[in-house]
Amino acid sequence: MSVLRLAIPSPLRRNFDYLPPAGMSQAEIDTLQPGVRLRVPFGAREVTGYLLGVFTESAISEDALKPALELLDDAPLLDAQMLQLCHWAADYYHHPLGDVYTTLFPKRLREGKPVQLPGLPGWQLTTRGKGLPEAALPRSPRQAQALSLLRQRGFIASSELKSCGISAAILRNLQEKRLIEPCAVNAPSLPATARQGLTLNDEQTAVLQALVAAEAGYSCHLLEGVTGSGKTEIYLQLIAACLQRGRQALVLVPEIGLTPQTLSRFQQRFDANIAVLHSGLTDAQRYLAWEAARSGAAQIVIGTRSAVFTPMAAPGLIIVDEEHDSSYKQQDGFRYSARDVAVKRAHLHGCPVLLGSATPSLESIQNVDAGRYRHLQLTQRASSGGMPAICALDVRKQELQAGLSDTLLATMEEQLRLGRQVLLFLNRRGYAPTLQCHDCGWIAECRSCDARLTVHRRMRRLRCHHCGAASALPRQCPHCRSERLLASGLGTEQTEDFLHTRFKHWPIHRVDSDSMQGKGAMQALVDEINRGDPCILLGTQMLTKGHHFPAVSLVAVIDADALLFSADFRGEERMAQLLTQVAGRAGRADIAGSVLLQTHYPDHPAVLAMLNTSYAEQARALLRRRHETGMPPAGQLVLMRTDCPNAEYGEQFLQQLRMRCTPQLPAATRLIGPLPSPMQRRAGKYRCQLLLTAPDRRSAQAAASLLVANAEALPAKQGLSWSIDVDPQDVF
Ligand code: ADP
Ligand code: ZN
Ligand code: ZN
Repeated sequence: MSVLRLAIPSPLRRNFDYLPPAGMSQAEIDTLQPGVRLRVPFGAREVTGYLLGVFTESAISEDALKPALELLDDAPLLDAQMLQLCHWAADYYHHPLGDVYTTLFPKRLREGKPVQLPGLPGWQLTTRGKGLPEAALPRSPRQAQALSLLRQRGFIASSELKSCGISAAILRNLQEKRLIEPCAVNAPSLPATARQGLTLNDEQTAVLQALVAAEAGYSCHLLEGVTGSGKTEIYLQLIAACLQRGRQALVLVPEIGLTPQTLSRFQQRFDANIAVLHSGLTDAQRYLAWEAARSGAAQIVIGTRSAVFTPMAAPGLIIVDEEHDSSYKQQDGFRYSARDVAVKRAHLHGCPVLLGSATPSLESIQNVDAGRYRHLQLTQRASSGGMPAICALDVRKQELQAGLSDTLLATMEEQLRLGRQVLLFLNRRGYAPTLQCHDCGWIAECRSCDARLTVHRRMRRLRCHHCGAASALPRQCPHCRSERLLASGLGTEQTEDFLHTRFKHWPIHRVDSDSMQGKGAMQALVDEINRGDPCILLGTQMLTKGHHFPAVSLVAVIDADALLFSADFRGEERMAQLLTQVAGRAGRADIAGSVLLQTHYPDHPAVLAMLNTSYAEQARALLRRRHETGMPPAGQLVLMRTDCPNAEYGEQFLQQLRMRCTPQLPAATRLIGPLPSPMQRRAGKYRCQLLLTAPDRRSAQAAASLLVANAEALPAKQGLSWSIDVDPQDVF
């Protein structure tokens, strides 16, 4: 008996056995390779499953097994390393394997549709065809001729085969024997070439040489280079070297839609096919980019988080830009870290991986200290401007207009008059974070979350920033009918309104996810800013990521206090990263830049650290503290979460889970909780969590397996769902 074991997208952490499709011969079954897709019945539905292997027995009796309906691929679409990566990720993140496979495939292929190839239709040998011994060649001379032509050339366009006298019938016959398969034949693409790069300075030269000299095979490097030190130039030149070896490069960036500049820098530098993968693509576009990467037609692949799973024909280099960015961690479903997956992937492919940042994560610094990653540094800006000076602006007792002090306003005016650009950072969109009734104290709150609604004046709406709920802006208090409603607190819309009255003669650009809707909005703005005329930029975090605005001389953080008091253990690390990145937008060209932090706490240790020490020093101090507290990266965390419309079930479930697991927990691991999540109710569900702390990876993994096995065995009450998060980003 032959049993096909499949990974199938389902929340169940197990694999599923099927009989081979009706009519498949034993010889055919024997050639089935792991990774091929099959259409199978699953409950009342038909789904796409992924073959794990062919076995001779099953835990299920033969008559209870259903046959698969159809084999969808002659050969696996993913290579062995990618399949290994799937299995590693499913194990490490304790996520169902079928769901991991599903993440890797574009929608078209998940739906069981055939591969659709760009280029001219043509034919290539299957793995079976390649391995066929000479003696077993078909007796038909035309068939044998076709096979030997394909052996010489790899693949051939159908039209060319026809002109050699090989008919479609002959090809079909060979296909039925699973010796050949259709493929796309691209017009011979010119090898990718790179235009001349910038002349590197001494530091850059040393870094590039170290990277190029790294032996072939796997190596991981952390490039810690201050903002504007020319990291991107290093990436470009390293990629050029990779392309020259005929290999592909994969570049991960935090948010591509927001950094059109990065993309255009790549396009200008290379004569190459660049496949771009990000969340703004249609399914068809994504599929084409995926296929171009897989076939090797695209020599460079640039994308956001999920692009780390793009298959490549000849991977030669992986770069993770802004490696500290929290957008690399998927926050729901399959909760992987694209940075960590990238390192694992490079290991499997045997190629170098470069993590770059001005503000590296403590995880990566720890890996450098432990000798796992090699450390490369750029300590100087590439331009002559030098690093900007950072000052705290004590706003205690000062009059603030839309959050701006007189000192700041005067400095802004001075810079604008000098023809410079000013960047203001305020990490809160909308008009005001609270709407309150002045007569009775009523506050507008979200019906589904433990959160206040944000006032959005432009759209005349109240919106929840947690679940997306929106309603019309009320004219009266629903409680007492008073019309005296106060919008309190500060958002970007409000500051923008004020700036328009205060700085009538200068353009003001608000940059947040409300104002930057639609394709090309960011690109248009970036073009405008880069013309260099004086203007004011006001924006959220969106404005801080990797942009290069040469004419910005002054950067001001309107409300630095908002960053100071975070309950999360990563709070200070995030603040240091964010402020360093914001500050890094100042003075990137030849004009000196300065940075002002408006704060009520000029003596706060975190503020003093920003003023007096580099990020590199702050990070090392924070890392020492993590070693004292055993928090990551010194120790490991795993978080079990529940959410449920019922307020009590989650806590009960986690309490039971805790009781079951405690006697078997590995030494030195500890469970904390169950506790309500920081925002207990979100989108109508109550959320609860159980935190596991462990001294090392191995015990964290053992404990995670224990938690998952027990959670699966526990009866879950109606509506309750649970999830596990290995290396969680947000804990408190
Ligand atoms: P980072 O990625 O570290 O923020 P970039 O690569 O964007 O830095 O470089 C910052 C600026 O310096 C860019 O305008 C870039 O063109 C310029 N630059 C980088 N390297 C050099 C160099 N070797 N010579 C002259 N200009 C450079
Ligand atoms: Zn009222
Ligand atoms: Zn809500």
